[in-house]
Amino acid sequence: MRCPVCNAEINETPFKEWLFNDYSVSRYKCPKCDYSFNAYSKEGKEAYTIPKRKF
Ligand SMILES: [Zn+2]
Repeated sequence: MRCPVCNAEINETPFKEWLFNDYSVSRYKCPKCDYSFNAYSKEGKEAYTIPKRKF
């Protein structure tokens, strides 16, 4: 997982996980820029983050 804000590699496990419709959502906090973001993933669909990646 990479931070969508600063592109740092994040190896930590998400500190929160839940379901949103059919998506599984993981909430990460970037240790580098301190920004929190959600990562959405669903089988057969491309994973995305909010905010969206800039890279
Ligand atoms: Zn970051």
